[in-house]
Amino acid sequence: MKLIMLGAPGAGKGTQAKLIADKYQIPHISTGDIFRANIKDGTELGMKAKSYMDAGGLVPDELVIDLVVDRLTWEDAKNGYVLDGFPRTIPQAEALTKALAEKGEKIDAAIDIDVPDENIINRMGGRRACVACGATYHIVNIPPKVEGKCDKCGADLILRDDDKPETVKNRLEVYHEQTQPLIDYYKAEGVLKEVDGTVDMNDVFNAIVQILGA
Ligand code: ADP
Ligand code: ADP
Ligand code: ZN
Repeated sequence: MKLIMLGAPGAGKGTQAKLIADKYQIPHISTGDIFRANIKDGTELGMKAKSYMDAGGLVPDELVIDLVVDRLTWEDAKNGYVLDGFPRTIPQAEALTKALAEKGEKIDAAIDIDVPDENIINRMGGRRACVACGATYHIVNIPPKVEGKCDKCGADLILRDDDKPETVKNRLEVYHEQTQPLIDYYKAEGVLKEVDGTVDMNDVFNAIVQILGA
């Protein structure tokens, strides 16, 4: 099963992608996670990506597309994957469609998690991410068992730099300009599925499972 998660920053793409990856036994491929790992390791890619991410903008397409196309050739992706945070622009979507078509493949579903802008600032302000394993929580909606510590590995939870309100406003603008058009792109491809992202995370997941089939 080859899936794409669409939705604004903070809509719950990562949260749902992790649940989907567990249930369907496919890898969760998050470009944001890949960039953050590169920044942490001080790689050249990480250094290039950081300034764009800190400003709430997008990393240029040419730094993203080859990275993902290559990642999809890994052994673990041969039965499918759930893409989270990619594609984020029309050129990225077109490059993905083309790379898949060359292998006679296509995306099975693009799942749009719909959450209005009003909810997003609160979602992002309360988001906490594990420094070690990348698990995410929300201080009110999805709190960890022990405040400030990851349930899965016990490491510290932090507020991402780009989740501060000023940056979130930029990210939302960029989303509406560059990423939202993908909803129509995948509608035209006949694979768009929409779910209400404002309900409890388990209810969002149930709606997705209904769509994908158990
Ligand atoms: P969120 O899950 O909150 O939407 P991500 O973790 O997906 O955020 O992405 C964090 C940042 O990494 C983005 O704001 C952007 O700067 C960069 N990024 C991630 N994926 C892409 C992509 N496909 N194209 C361009 N930039 C990206
Ligand atoms: P994205 O990957 O789209 O940026 P995340 O999955 O990281 O979004 O979720 C953003 C924040 O909202 C996190 O703090 C997460 O714990 C919280 N969250 C995710 N899904 C829900 C939900 N259905 N209801 C309330 N909060 C949620
Ligand atoms: Zn952890």
